[in-house]
Amino acid sequence: MKRVHNARHGAEAHLVRGFLESHGIEAVVRGDLLAGGWGELPVDLCAVWVTDDAAFAEADRLLRDFLGGAPAGHHAAAGWTCPHCRETLEGQFTACWQCGRERPI
Ligand SMILES: [Zn+2]
Repeated sequence: MKRVHNARHGAEAHLVRGFLESHGIEAVVRGDLLAGGWGELPVDLCAVWVTDDAAFAEADRLLRDFLGGAPAGHHAAAGWTCPHCRETLEGQFTACWQCGRERPI
């Protein structure tokens, strides 16, 4: 039994569990006991575990693809390089701060 994902709320945990099961990986949702010690905890803080350790690597890979492509992924925006001055920009910028050139589509 290995923990594959920490969810912010129950709905996310069950979404992840359903996703894994749709790929033939058995998973369960459990309260995250390791998060204790902070006093009041969100009641629905929970984690997704794969029951078969051998399936962990595949589950981890599937989830990275799944969550990385989700609209909620805050870090999904890829960095880019300005075609004009070769400055490296982070994904949230839509124009080059060095030369003002707009981000290529
Ligand atoms: Zn530039």
